Amino acid sequence: MYPKELMCELHAPGRCLVEIVVTLRNTPGSLSQAANAIAALGINILSGFHAALPDEKDARWSFFADLTDRAEPQQVIEALNGSGVVTETKITKAQFLGLMIDEVHFPLFVLSERAVVFRVGTWAAMFRHLTEMTGKSVASVLRHQMGLEAGDAKAKQVQAEFNLHGEDALRIILAERVAKGWGVPSILKYSPTGRNAVVSVEGLFECMTMGKDATEPTGDFFRGYLQGALSVLMNTKINVREIECVTKGHPKCSFEATTVEVA
Ligand SMILES: [Zn+2]
Repeated sequence: MYPKELMCELHAPGRCLVEIVVTLRNTPGSLSQAANAIAALGINILSGFHAALPDEKDARWSFFADLTDRAEPQQVIEALNGSGVVTETKITKAQFLGLMIDEVHFPLFVLSERAVVFRVGTWAAMFRHLTEMTGKSVASVLRHQMGLEAGDAKAKQVQAEFNLHGEDALRIILAERVAKGWGVPSILKYSPTGRNAVVSVEGLFECMTMGKDATEPTGDFFRGYLQGALSVLMNTKINVREIECVTKGHPKCSFEATTVEVA
């Protein structure tokens, strides 16, 4: 696995940092030609992202760059616009020398839907505060309920959008958790006939900040998420328990799903 750093902010004390947003043709070789125009000025391209959708005429390439002792912004604009593949170049200078923050991209989209980013530490602080206010068991129920709603909606969306069902749909749902930074899940068991499943998760975000001395597992949001999704995919009411948790010293968090016994 490779870490994914979202282009957000760059700190390089004393350096002349800029953010460059290039609109260019969405054709083979365009990115290379634009990059060559930058390289010809001796500028090092730093963190960034490239957005090119299959059906769009134009693509967008945004990145931070260090212009120190290399070029003036106007020279960069002229070089890019003269490359033959670029239709527009915009350059933003850092508000403070050496501290560049991306203030030009908004809104943020993930999977073509509006998204926001919380640091895992912020999530942990919010729920620590909630636990202090409501007590452990109420906070646990609230996290579980939040997960239920989200998991139910995600399973219905995957079924409708990709026409995938059962274990195939679960694989897509869990793969998206990796892409979104929740953790790295694996399906250890999926039995549509027995209507039960076991899923383990490495590095689950909500448990990684909780320490290693909890008396109870702490993956309540994901437990609810899995429960909501599996209840849709298995077409019956499913219950999920967290049977192993990093906060109890296990290497991963593991979740066991079973059907709810009807009295
Ligand atoms: Zn856990």
